[in-house]
Amino acid sequence: MSATESGGAGRFAPSPSGDLHLGNLRTALLAWLFARSTGRGFLVRMEDLDRVRPGAAPRQLADLAAIGLDWDGPVVQQSARTPLYDAAISSLIDRDLAYECFCTRREIREAASAPHPDPSFPQRIGADGAYPGTCRSLTAAQVAERRADGRPSAWRLRAGATRWTVDDELAGAFTGAVDDLVLRRNDGVAAYNLAVVVDDAAQGVDQVVRGDDLLTSAPRQAYLASLLGRPPVAYAHVPLALNTHRQRLAKRDGAVTLTDLAALGRSAVDVLGLLAASLGLAGPGERVTPTDLLPRFDPAALPRDPWIVDPATLPTV
Ligand code: GLU
Repeated sequence: MSATESGGAGRFAPSPSGDLHLGNLRTALLAWLFARSTGRGFLVRMEDLDRVRPGAAPRQLADLAAIGLDWDGPVVQQSARTPLYDAAISSLIDRDLAYECFCTRREIREAASAPHPDPSFPQRIGADGAYPGTCRSLTAAQVAERRADGRPSAWRLRAGATRWTVDDELAGAFTGAVDDLVLRRNDGVAAYNLAVVVDDAAQGVDQVVRGDDLLTSAPRQAYLASLLGRPPVAYAHVPLALNTHRQRLAKRDGAVTLTDLAALGRSAVDVLGLLAASLGLAGPGERVTPTDLLPRFDPAALPRDPWIVDPATLPTV
Protein backbone atom coordinates (compact mmCIF):
# COMPACT_ATOMS: atom_id res chain seq x y z
CA MET A 1 0.00 0.00 0.00
CA SER A 2 1.44 3.38 -0.88
CA ALA A 3 1.72 6.19 1.63
CA THR A 4 -1.03 8.10 -0.16
CA GLU A 5 -3.41 5.17 0.11
CA SER A 6 -2.50 4.74 3.75
CA GLY A 7 -3.30 8.41 4.37
CA GLY A 8 -0.07 8.76 6.29
CA ALA A 9 1.73 11.93 7.21
CA GLY A 10 5.11 13.26 8.16
CA ARG A 11 5.62 16.13 10.54
CA PHE A 12 7.90 18.80 11.94
CA ALA A 13 7.53 19.32 15.66
CA PRO A 14 9.56 22.25 16.93
CA SER A 15 9.72 23.42 20.52
CA PRO A 16 8.86 27.15 20.49
CA SER A 17 11.82 28.08 22.64
CA GLY A 18 13.32 30.60 20.22
CA ASP A 19 13.86 31.30 16.55
CA LEU A 20 14.61 28.38 14.24
CA HIS A 21 18.25 28.29 13.16
CA LEU A 22 19.77 26.88 10.01
CA GLY A 23 19.93 23.38 11.48
CA ASN A 24 16.24 23.43 12.46
CA LEU A 25 15.26 24.80 9.07
CA ARG A 26 17.28 22.09 7.33
CA THR A 27 15.58 19.39 9.40
CA ALA A 28 12.20 20.93 8.56
CA LEU A 29 13.06 20.94 4.86
CA LEU A 30 14.09 17.30 5.08
CA ALA A 31 10.91 16.33 6.93
CA TRP A 32 8.90 18.11 4.22
CA LEU A 33 10.86 16.37 1.43
CA PHE A 34 10.51 12.93 3.01
CA ALA A 35 6.76 13.44 3.43
CA ARG A 36 5.91 15.10 0.15
CA SER A 37 8.16 12.81 -1.94
CA THR A 38 6.20 9.83 -0.62
CA GLY A 39 2.80 11.41 -1.16
CA ARG A 40 2.24 11.91 2.53
CA GLY A 41 0.59 14.82 4.27
CA PHE A 42 2.85 17.15 6.21
CA LEU A 43 1.93 18.48 9.63
CA VAL A 44 3.45 21.02 11.98
CA ARG A 45 3.07 20.56 15.71
CA MET A 46 4.21 23.00 18.38
CA GLU A 47 5.75 21.10 21.25
CA ASP A 48 5.00 23.73 23.82
CA LEU A 49 4.83 21.70 27.02
CA ASP A 50 7.98 23.42 28.24
CA ARG A 51 10.65 25.88 27.13
CA VAL A 52 8.19 28.33 25.55
CA ARG A 53 9.39 31.78 24.57
CA PRO A 54 6.54 34.22 23.96
CA GLY A 55 6.20 35.02 20.26
CA ALA A 56 8.50 32.20 19.13
CA ALA A 57 5.77 29.95 17.70
CA PRO A 58 4.37 32.43 15.16
CA ARG A 59 7.91 33.44 14.17
CA GLN A 60 8.85 29.81 13.61
CA LEU A 61 5.79 29.30 11.40
CA ALA A 62 6.56 32.47 9.45
CA ASP A 63 10.12 31.25 8.88
CA LEU A 64 8.96 27.84 7.65
CA ALA A 65 6.61 29.56 5.21
CA ALA A 66 9.33 31.98 4.15
CA ILE A 67 11.57 29.15 2.92
CA GLY A 68 8.61 27.79 0.96
CA LEU A 69 7.37 24.96 3.16
CA ASP A 70 3.65 24.32 3.39
CA TRP A 71 1.70 22.12 5.75
CA ASP A 72 -1.72 20.56 5.96
CA GLY A 73 -4.39 21.64 8.38
CA PRO A 74 -4.08 23.69 11.52
CA VAL A 75 -0.90 23.69 13.59
CA VAL A 76 -1.47 21.56 16.66
CA GLN A 77 -0.32 22.83 20.05
CA GLN A 78 0.52 20.25 22.65
CA SER A 79 -0.55 22.55 25.47
CA ALA A 80 -4.15 22.24 24.20
CA ARG A 81 -4.18 18.45 24.19
CA THR A 82 -4.05 17.52 27.87
CA PRO A 83 -7.20 15.31 27.74
CA LEU A 84 -5.62 13.14 25.07
CA TYR A 85 -2.47 12.61 27.14
CA ASP A 86 -4.53 11.99 30.29
CA ALA A 87 -6.54 9.29 28.50
CA ALA A 88 -3.39 7.50 27.37
CA ILE A 89 -1.84 7.66 30.84
CA SER A 90 -5.08 6.41 32.42
CA SER A 91 -5.20 3.47 30.04
CA LEU A 92 -1.67 2.51 31.09
CA ILE A 93 -2.51 2.93 34.80
CA ASP A 94 -5.61 0.74 34.33
CA ARG A 95 -3.40 -1.99 32.89
CA ASP A 96 -0.88 -1.64 35.75
CA LEU A 97 1.66 -0.36 33.24
CA ALA A 98 2.35 2.84 35.14
CA TYR A 99 3.31 3.73 38.69
CA GLU A 100 3.70 6.80 40.81
CA CYS A 101 7.26 7.98 41.40
CA PHE A 102 8.24 10.35 44.19
CA CYS A 103 11.98 10.52 43.48
CA THR A 104 13.78 13.79 43.12
CA ARG A 105 16.47 14.10 40.45
CA ARG A 106 19.06 13.97 43.16
CA GLU A 107 17.67 10.74 44.63
CA ILE A 108 17.71 9.17 41.18
CA ARG A 109 21.35 10.16 40.68
CA GLU A 110 22.30 8.81 44.07
CA ALA A 111 20.38 5.56 43.65
CA ALA A 112 21.94 5.00 40.25
CA SER A 113 25.44 5.30 41.68
CA ALA A 114 24.77 3.42 44.92
CA PRO A 115 27.09 0.44 45.56
CA HIS A 116 24.24 -1.98 46.31
CA PRO A 117 21.52 -1.25 43.83
CA ASP A 118 18.09 -2.77 44.10
CA PRO A 119 18.68 -6.42 43.12
CA SER A 120 15.11 -6.78 41.85
CA PHE A 121 15.93 -4.34 39.09
CA PRO A 122 19.56 -4.93 38.24
CA GLN A 123 19.69 -4.47 34.52
CA ARG A 124 18.57 -0.86 34.55
CA ILE A 125 20.80 0.52 37.24
CA GLY A 126 22.79 3.40 35.93
CA ALA A 127 22.52 2.25 32.33
CA ASP A 128 22.32 5.25 29.99
CA GLY A 129 21.17 7.36 32.94
CA ALA A 130 18.12 5.12 33.17
CA TYR A 131 15.78 5.34 36.13
CA PRO A 132 16.88 2.79 38.74
CA GLY A 133 13.36 1.64 39.63
CA THR A 134 13.25 3.00 43.18
CA CYS A 135 9.47 3.55 43.25
CA ARG A 136 8.53 0.58 41.07
CA SER A 137 7.42 -1.68 43.90
CA LEU A 138 6.14 0.73 46.52
CA THR A 139 3.30 -0.70 48.58
CA ALA A 140 0.00 1.18 48.78
CA ALA A 141 0.99 2.22 52.31
CA GLN A 142 4.33 3.61 51.13
CA VAL A 143 2.60 5.55 48.36
CA ALA A 144 0.11 6.95 50.87
CA GLU A 145 2.93 7.94 53.20
CA ARG A 146 4.78 9.83 50.48
CA ARG A 147 1.61 11.52 49.35
CA ALA A 148 0.90 12.56 52.93
CA ASP A 149 4.39 14.08 53.11
CA GLY A 150 3.25 16.34 50.29
CA ARG A 151 5.84 15.02 47.87
CA PRO A 152 4.88 15.74 44.27
CA SER A 153 4.72 12.61 42.17
CA ALA A 154 5.42 11.80 38.57
CA TRP A 155 3.99 8.79 36.76
CA ARG A 156 6.36 6.36 35.12
CA LEU A 157 5.93 3.53 32.69
CA ARG A 158 6.35 0.05 34.10
CA ALA A 159 8.48 -1.05 31.19
CA GLY A 160 8.55 -4.76 30.35
CA ALA A 161 11.57 -4.44 28.08
CA THR A 162 15.05 -3.02 28.51
CA ARG A 163 15.88 -2.78 24.78
CA TRP A 164 13.80 -2.16 21.70
CA THR A 165 14.71 -2.05 18.02
CA VAL A 166 13.50 0.46 15.47
CA ASP A 167 14.12 0.58 11.77
CA ASP A 168 15.61 3.87 10.66
CA GLU A 169 15.89 4.84 7.02
CA LEU A 170 19.37 6.26 7.53
CA ALA A 171 20.72 4.39 10.58
CA GLY A 172 19.23 0.98 9.69
CA ALA A 173 18.12 -1.31 12.53
CA PHE A 174 18.84 0.58 15.73
CA THR A 175 18.54 -1.02 19.16
CA GLY A 176 18.44 1.24 22.18
CA ALA A 177 17.58 1.33 25.85
CA VAL A 178 14.05 1.37 27.19
CA ASP A 179 13.44 2.27 30.81
CA ASP A 180 10.66 3.31 33.14
CA LEU A 181 10.30 6.62 31.34
CA VAL A 182 8.27 9.47 32.76
CA LEU A 183 4.73 9.69 31.40
CA ARG A 184 3.52 12.62 33.48
CA ARG A 185 6.01 14.98 35.11
CA ASN A 186 5.70 15.83 38.77
CA ASP A 187 4.31 19.26 37.80
CA GLY A 188 1.33 17.40 36.30
CA VAL A 189 2.26 18.05 32.66
CA ALA A 190 2.52 15.21 30.14
CA ALA A 191 6.14 14.23 29.48
CA TYR A 192 7.77 14.65 26.08
CA ASN A 193 7.97 10.94 25.17
CA LEU A 194 4.32 10.32 26.00
CA ALA A 195 3.07 13.41 24.20
CA VAL A 196 5.05 12.65 21.03
CA VAL A 197 3.78 9.10 20.83
CA VAL A 198 0.16 10.02 21.54
CA ASP A 199 0.20 12.92 19.09
CA ASP A 200 1.90 11.08 16.27
CA ALA A 201 -0.68 8.31 16.56
CA ALA A 202 -3.66 10.66 16.94
CA GLN A 203 -2.55 12.78 13.99
CA GLY A 204 -2.00 9.82 11.66
CA VAL A 205 1.75 10.43 11.51
CA ASP A 206 3.45 7.35 10.12
CA GLN A 207 6.81 8.93 9.26
CA VAL A 208 9.04 10.67 11.81
CA VAL A 209 11.93 12.70 10.41
CA ARG A 210 13.97 14.66 12.95
CA GLY A 211 17.50 15.37 14.15
CA ASP A 212 19.66 12.37 14.93
CA ASP A 213 20.10 13.57 18.52
CA LEU A 214 16.70 11.93 19.02
CA LEU A 215 17.64 8.54 17.57
CA THR A 216 18.26 7.17 21.07
CA SER A 217 14.72 8.24 22.07
CA ALA A 218 13.14 6.30 19.22
CA PRO A 219 13.32 2.81 20.83
CA ARG A 220 11.51 3.95 24.00
CA GLN A 221 8.93 5.86 21.98
CA ALA A 222 8.34 2.90 19.66
CA TYR A 223 8.01 0.60 22.67
CA LEU A 224 5.51 2.94 24.30
CA ALA A 225 3.58 3.16 21.03
CA SER A 226 3.38 -0.63 20.91
CA LEU A 227 1.96 -0.73 24.45
CA LEU A 228 -0.66 1.83 23.44
CA GLY A 229 -1.60 -0.36 20.48
CA ARG A 230 -0.31 2.17 17.93
CA PRO A 231 1.24 1.04 14.67
CA PRO A 232 4.99 1.54 14.23
CA VAL A 233 6.15 4.63 12.34
CA ALA A 234 8.92 4.90 9.76
CA TYR A 235 11.89 6.78 11.17
CA ALA A 236 14.59 8.86 9.51
CA HIS A 237 16.96 10.58 11.92
CA VAL A 238 18.93 13.13 9.95
CA PRO A 239 22.37 14.63 10.64
CA LEU A 240 22.45 17.77 12.74
CA ALA A 241 24.04 21.11 11.98
CA LEU A 242 27.09 21.69 14.17
CA ASN A 243 29.31 24.70 14.80
CA THR A 244 33.00 24.66 14.00
CA HIS A 245 33.68 23.13 17.43
CA ARG A 246 31.39 20.28 16.44
CA GLN A 247 28.81 21.32 19.01
CA ARG A 248 25.15 21.54 18.17
CA LEU A 249 24.50 24.80 16.31
CA ALA A 250 22.97 27.49 18.52
CA LYS A 251 21.98 31.13 18.27
CA ARG A 252 25.16 32.21 20.03
CA ASP A 253 27.17 30.88 17.06
CA GLY A 254 26.40 34.02 15.06
CA ALA A 255 24.02 34.84 12.24
CA VAL A 256 22.12 31.54 12.04
CA THR A 257 18.45 32.56 11.92
CA LEU A 258 16.49 33.98 9.01
CA THR A 259 16.19 37.27 10.86
CA ASP A 260 19.97 37.45 11.47
CA LEU A 261 20.70 36.53 7.88
CA ALA A 262 18.14 38.99 6.49
CA ALA A 263 20.00 41.73 8.34
CA LEU A 264 23.08 40.68 6.38
CA GLY A 265 21.18 40.90 3.10
CA ARG A 266 20.42 37.23 2.64
CA SER A 267 16.83 36.45 1.75
CA ALA A 268 14.86 33.38 2.76
CA VAL A 269 15.26 32.17 -0.84
CA ASP A 270 19.04 32.49 -0.45
CA VAL A 271 18.83 30.45 2.73
CA LEU A 272 16.76 27.75 1.07
CA GLY A 273 19.41 27.56 -1.66
CA LEU A 274 22.09 27.22 0.99
CA LEU A 275 20.20 24.42 2.75
CA ALA A 276 19.57 22.62 -0.53
CA ALA A 277 23.24 22.90 -1.50
CA SER A 278 24.27 21.53 1.91
CA LEU A 279 22.12 18.48 1.15
CA GLY A 280 23.59 18.01 -2.31
CA LEU A 281 20.23 18.98 -3.85
CA ALA A 282 21.26 22.22 -5.54
CA GLY A 283 24.35 23.74 -7.02
CA PRO A 284 26.06 26.72 -5.41
CA GLY A 285 24.07 29.86 -6.06
CA GLU A 286 21.14 28.01 -7.63
CA ARG A 287 17.72 29.47 -6.87
CA VAL A 288 15.23 26.74 -6.01
CA THR A 289 11.87 26.14 -4.41
CA PRO A 290 11.19 23.12 -2.18
CA THR A 291 9.04 21.66 -4.96
CA ASP A 292 12.00 21.86 -7.38
CA LEU A 293 13.89 19.62 -4.97
CA LEU A 294 11.31 16.83 -4.89
CA PRO A 295 12.46 15.00 -8.06
CA ARG A 296 16.09 15.34 -6.94
CA PHE A 297 15.47 14.00 -3.45
CA ASP A 298 16.87 10.54 -2.74
CA PRO A 299 17.18 9.57 0.94
CA ALA A 300 19.92 7.07 0.09
CA ALA A 301 22.08 9.87 -1.32
CA LEU A 302 21.78 12.23 1.66
CA PRO A 303 24.97 13.30 3.45
CA ARG A 304 25.47 11.13 6.54
CA ASP A 305 27.82 13.48 8.33
CA PRO A 306 26.80 16.54 10.32
CA TRP A 307 26.61 19.84 8.49
CA ILE A 308 29.35 22.07 9.88
CA VAL A 309 28.19 25.69 9.84
CA ASP A 310 30.54 28.62 10.17
CA PRO A 311 28.28 31.69 10.01
CA ALA A 312 31.32 33.86 9.30
CA THR A 313 32.00 32.07 6.03
CA LEU A 314 28.59 30.88 4.84
CA PRO A 315 28.82 30.66 1.06
CA THR A 316 26.90 33.28 -0.83
CA VAL A 317 24.13 32.05 -3.07
N1 GLU B 1 10.20 19.03 19.90
C1 GLU B 1 11.41 18.29 19.68
C2 GLU B 1 12.55 19.27 19.41
O1 GLU B 1 12.30 20.39 19.01
C3 GLU B 1 11.31 17.33 18.52
C4 GLU B 1 10.52 16.15 18.85
C5 GLU B 1 10.32 15.16 17.73
O2 GLU B 1 10.52 15.52 16.55
O3 GLU B 1 9.92 14.05 18.04
O4 GLU B 1 13.69 18.90 19.61
